Amino acid sequence: MTIDELRRIDLFDGIDDDELDRWRAAAEEQTFKEGDRVIAQGEAPLGLYLLLEGSLESMFVIDGRTEHIGHQNSPTWIGAIAAHENVEVRTGSTAVAAVGEGGRLRALRVEGPDGEEQMPVDACFVFIGALPRTDWLDGVVRRDDRGFILAGPDVAGDGWALARDPYLLETSVPGVFVAGDVRARSIKRVASAVGEGSMAITLVHQYLVDA
Ligand SMILES: Cc1cc2nc3c(=O)[nH]c(=O)nc-3n(C[C@H](O)[C@H](O)[C@H](O)COP(=O)(O)OP(=O)(O)OC[C@H]3O[C@@H](n4cnc5c(N)ncnc54)[C@H](O)[C@@H]3O)c2cc1C
Repeated sequence: MTIDELRRIDLFDGIDDDELDRWRAAAEEQTFKEGDRVIAQGEAPLGLYLLLEGSLESMFVIDGRTEHIGHQNSPTWIGAIAAHENVEVRTGSTAVAAVGEGGRLRALRVEGPDGEEQMPVDACFVFIGALPRTDWLDGVVRRDDRGFILAGPDVAGDGWALARDPYLLETSVPGVFVAGDVRARSIKRVASAVGEGSMAITLVHQYLVDA
């Protein structure tokens, strides 16, 4: 495993080479062939899994039930929160209502595979901003398997219509540019989104000059 391989994983965005080298030294590398099953059980999965090459299907097995969690393509990372003894993962469940009393959150109503349940809680952390919501662009510009819009080198070659290479922020449709969080591989930060916005304007000018 090399630092360059770790750099391709978005989890390590902004981490310097020395720190990455410490991660590299602490990691244990294993290779599997197509069709192999890897079972993480008990204390074994308390770490962080990095998928450097290939892809995998994740399953969650509990009480004899197997639930498909998702499909991951490299380079990516997989946490192991389900393995923590003080964490219970409710797959296929949605918090549908918050119940308050005396100005405080007291419970959440959660709808799951077995119906609706009211769970007493002291706090609720809402994880927002992780889905690109680009379904409306299906069939218009090319997107990765999570819906983030591909641009530049990612759309060169495969179906790219022009003799020149795509500009850095140009999508699979010549003259259509993408900037910020919604772009695949972008660094999800305000400063980089603003920077990409100004880059996109310059590239639009360049496109118009060439057109
Ligand atoms: C909880 C949280 C905390 C964060 N903390 C930090 C931080 O501390 N520092 C930092 O640098 N970054 C932070 N970020 C990341 C930062 O917010 C983003 O990187 C940045 O906002 C990206 O800017 P953007 O313009 O690409 O996208 P956004 O800010 O998401 O703007 C996209 C806009 O497009 C609108 N939109 C979406 N679809 C459509 C549509 N079909 N038609 C019209 N409008 C549409 C949306 O409503 C939104 O207003 C945080 C993000 C989250 C979610």
